[in-house]
Amino acid sequence: MLKRSKILVTGGNGLVGNAIQEAVKLNNTKEEYIFLSSKDFDLTSMEQTKKMFETHSPNKVIHLAANVGGLFKNMNQKVEMLEKNLMINYNVVKCAHDYKVEKMVCCLSTCIFPDKIEKYPINEDYLHQGPPHFSNDAYAYSKRMLEIHCQSYRENYGDNFICVSPTNVYGPHDNFDLENGHVLPVLIHRCFLAKKNNEDFVVRGTGKPLRQFIFSQDLAKLILIVLEKSNDNHTILSCPEEQEISIKDIAILIAKCFDYENRIVFDSSFSDGQYKKTVSINRIQNLLDTENLEFNFFPIEEGIKKTVDWFITNKYNN
Ligand code: NAP
Ligand code: GDP
Repeated sequence: MLKRSKILVTGGNGLVGNAIQEAVKLNNTKEEYIFLSSKDFDLTSMEQTKKMFETHSPNKVIHLAANVGGLFKNMNQKVEMLEKNLMINYNVVKCAHDYKVEKMVCCLSTCIFPDKIEKYPINEDYLHQGPPHFSNDAYAYSKRMLEIHCQSYRENYGDNFICVSPTNVYGPHDNFDLENGHVLPVLIHRCFLAKKNNEDFVVRGTGKPLRQFIFSQDLAKLILIVLEKSNDNHTILSCPEEQEISIKDIAILIAKCFDYENRIVFDSSFSDGQYKKTVSINRIQNLLDTENLEFNFFPIEEGIKKTVDWFITNKYNN
């Protein structure tokens, strides 16, 4: 009889962790999942990380835990983001090897790819072929080391460690903090406040940069597919929704949910960050095709509506 897998999810109460919790419920899986947060074990500590592996003895790991944030957090908190992520990732990857984890999926990000690229879309193999954008270099290098760490264990010990590289993720349970969050949750929060106070809805930067967004529940499904199915030699799989959209159009979609389109203004005294970082969908699509899995991405208009509803119900309906 096949052994039931015990799958440990670090960062299990964050944006992506919550989406995985939901996907696991929908899948009605027989596997045992353990979702943990920093309240359970502080993964910046090697001692605590060892304790986590000893307490739960997982045979598979989804490693999501990280110090995460949007453009302005990445610019203003470089030291903390570099140090915390280097520590968390070093501890988790080393322990996953030492405690003989059979398979681990770690999370990178498409914002860690080189800034200057000759030809879009960016292929996973370009990861180390040029510096990342200066605005998020500290976070990016910590994540690049995570990929090198996984790759090294693969090469020297045959460990089945793989990385997914999501584009900009959004959805219920996101971080709506006005200074530290990613653009989509922050603009939902800011538009809500603007309407409440009868003020302009201020969008930072010019609104011209382009981004690929992925709804957290789509990413959760892809991560579970990668955990179960992928066993090839690729260490990185980008997880994008192919469609690219400008920050201005995102702001318009959000404002429409609040019926507040006429009050959008752009404050170009703030940074635009990287202009674009379009990544290729080919590698993950190949995996889906090989496994005969049909995958339809959640339309962004609906994803935004769901996220706005979640924000209003959970953050402002007390
Ligand atoms: P999130 O909502 O900020 O959640 C972060 C998770 O990490 C939380 O569960 C948090 O626990 C945990 N964590 C933080 N520091 C920890 C520590 N010292 N020890 C143990 N756990 C710790 O992040 P997310 O958006 O779900 O991101 C998940 C993964 O996707 C990350 O690796 C991130 O780099 C990657 N990613 C995210 C995006 C995006 O747009 N959000 C895009 C690309 C890639 P507490 O709640 O207890 O602090
Ligand atoms: P990125 O995709 O990694 O660059 O991170 P973000 O999710 O933070 O998106 C940054 C883009 O959104 C930049 O072009 C910003 O100028 C734009 N943006 C507009 N308003 C805001 C805001 O209030 N917060 C953030 N984080 N970005 C904003």
